Amino acid sequence: MGQKADVVIIGGGVIGICTAYYLQKAGRQVILLERDEICSGSSYGNSGLIVPSHSIPLPAPGVVFQALKWMFNPESPFYIKPRLDLNLMSWLLRFTFNCTSGRMFASVKTLVELSRASRVLYDQLISEESIRCNYETSGLLMVYRTEEGYEEGVHEGKLMRDAGLPSKEMKVNDLIKMEPGIRSDIFGGIYYSEDAFLNPSEFVTALAQVVRDKGVDIREDIEVIGLDTNSVNGIKVKTSFGDYTCNEVVLAAGSWSPGILNGQNINLPVEPAKGYSVTFDTETPLLKHALILGEAKIGVNPLGRNLRLAGTLELAGLDLSISTRRVNAVVNSAKRYLNGGDKFTADNVWAGLRPVTPDGVPIIGRLRSHPNVLVATGHATIGMTLGPITGKLVTEILCNKGQSIDTGLFTPSRFGI
Ligand SMILES: Cc1cc2nc3c(=O)[nH]c(=O)nc-3n(C[C@H](O)[C@H](O)[C@H](O)COP(=O)(O)OP(=O)(O)OC[C@H]3O[C@@H](n4cnc5c(N)ncnc54)[C@H](O)[C@@H]3O)c2cc1C
Repeated sequence: MGQKADVVIIGGGVIGICTAYYLQKAGRQVILLERDEICSGSSYGNSGLIVPSHSIPLPAPGVVFQALKWMFNPESPFYIKPRLDLNLMSWLLRFTFNCTSGRMFASVKTLVELSRASRVLYDQLISEESIRCNYETSGLLMVYRTEEGYEEGVHEGKLMRDAGLPSKEMKVNDLIKMEPGIRSDIFGGIYYSEDAFLNPSEFVTALAQVVRDKGVDIREDIEVIGLDTNSVNGIKVKTSFGDYTCNEVVLAAGSWSPGILNGQNINLPVEPAKGYSVTFDTETPLLKHALILGEAKIGVNPLGRNLRLAGTLELAGLDLSISTRRVNAVVNSAKRYLNGGDKFTADNVWAGLRPVTPDGVPIIGRLRSHPNVLVATGHATIGMTLGPITGKLVTEILCNKGQSIDTGLFTPSRFGI
């Protein structure tokens, strides 16, 4: 016999759990289905940086040329696994089409607004619910080894300031005074005071416990197989343990979201982009601030006594295998920016799949053909950052409340779905 719910959320990552939190607060009755354990996808081992500073979407001028150069270097931060996949081809074409400054500027302003709003929600959520997750609001340093890299950083810093986000250029001496863990032979950096960092899995699992305690029904080890949108009593969510009938569905299954819509003949243009992290014990804390190592594209999180390095972006499908060569490249690159490199190891390696759209902007909104299915995915490299605001916006849409931020840019209808 089928089970009934008001709203079913599919996926227990940062997006699904934050959505459950705000929907419960708004008085909706929620069942969340997770095929594994809570926080077993991309939300688990990511860098944990809460980064309004990272609001430049992936498709940007010059990216395709840079990507082509990196493609043939097995230690570079980017790779596309060659394969005959029509969805990937069409996604890459759309991505290339979005690599113009006009399209990029249009996204930056909204992403800055969205991520700053999310940062405020993190402050509220963590304090109101007493969540322990190593949350630090000391800002982030973007660090560059070369003058060329630094100039690019300065350009991005200006772009962010134009969009309303403070940033400060820093010469090497000031940078080292502020963060002695950085090597003295780097060139310079940019300080973003509004960025923060946390332990991502601690945040998501603690918030999941909060929502459970408030009455949200979280069910693990239940895999959603598909949807039946022709049911007369509402929408049917088909799972490995029977069907759920509900009024509305929130699809928040990250990189696995497209597969769930296959039966509806809906092509959700989300590609998995694999990244790796390594986390090691440094015995004593090496850093006080979160960092991004500019040229190497590595995120660094000083998780207390541990240090986490994360990077690379591989378009290789739903594949979580680990390339030791690329992981070693991440570790070795970090040694060129930071002191204490002898303690850096590639032991505790994790791989995750970022859900990426071809315009680099998330998809948040109802499907045109099935308005009782709301999609909340495609957050790419900033899904941790955007978790709380996404949960809030989804709740506003489902409860027909006024939108605190205009979600026009995020609507699925921009892809004709
Ligand atoms: C190396 C790396 C570093 C990153 N660093 C940062 C960072 O510093 N800051 C930042 O903001 N973002 C960062 N990100 C991006 C961020 O991790 C993602 O954007 C975010 O975690 C996406 O969250 P999600 O909830 O959409 O997906 P996920 O966390 O992947 O959650 C999806 C969930 O759905 C479940 N699921 C899948 N299929 C089904 C099904 N059929 N039925 C039921 N459940 C299902 C999965 O098991 C999973 O738990 C990083 C990502 C990577 C890989």
